[in-house]
Amino acid sequence: MTDFLTNRWTTLMEELPPSVRLLAVSKGHSASTIRSVASFGQQAFGESRLQEALEKQKLLSDLNLQWHFIGHLQKNKVRAVVKTFSVIHSVDSLSLAQRVSRIAVEEGCCPNVLLQIKLRVDPSKGGMERGDLISIWPELQTLPALRITGLMTMAPFGLRVDERQSLFTECRTLADKLKLPECSMGMSGDWHEAVAAGSTLLRLGSAIFGPRLMSRT
Ligand SMILES: *Cc1c(COP(=O)(O)O)cnc(C)c1O
Repeated sequence: MTDFLTNRWTTLMEELPPSVRLLAVSKGHSASTIRSVASFGQQAFGESRLQEALEKQKLLSDLNLQWHFIGHLQKNKVRAVVKTFSVIHSVDSLSLAQRVSRIAVEEGCCPNVLLQIKLRVDPSKGGMERGDLISIWPELQTLPALRITGLMTMAPFGLRVDERQSLFTECRTLADKLKLPECSMGMSGDWHEAVAAGSTLLRLGSAIFGPRLMSRT
């Protein structure tokens, strides 16, 4: 098990350009597997389900890990997420941003936030459309306690390589227009195109951990 992890990690490190940071998406994997990957020097881990994440955070509290929330964020989970995650990748509406901001003020913390956008029709994924983001942008910037550092996006299944590449380029262009440094884009199946388009943060799960055991998303 650990040999597989080590081999995959070594291969990946040889491939990844130094310009891009890596978020290890550990949903569906155990705390002890996360511990192994942390021993390679990886600090940032992404989780998409709160309950599962809280259990692992408790087991790994002796390590200095940085937790990123990447799943759909339900209103009633905002407080718990704000308290236990330092980056939220999935803020996809003005009302959710307002709630995160209000709760962050109450909790005295200031999460880094990425706005999730959806650049193609895709009923299976969250995210706001480009036009909606542009129209709420002035209001988003006034929210206290929100450090909006970038955009996050996902490519729909079934796109060709060149179609994915242009989708990621659109995300980068929009982030640049809003003067946002960060683009969280690229998963195990499409990270090469995301890097070519200017991703700053890759969210890789199976490329690091192998197939998920408790897979749901
Ligand atoms: C699961 C997940 C990933 C990682 O997916 P892989 O294909 O295993 O790399 C990245 N981003 C989000 C939002 C996810 O839910």
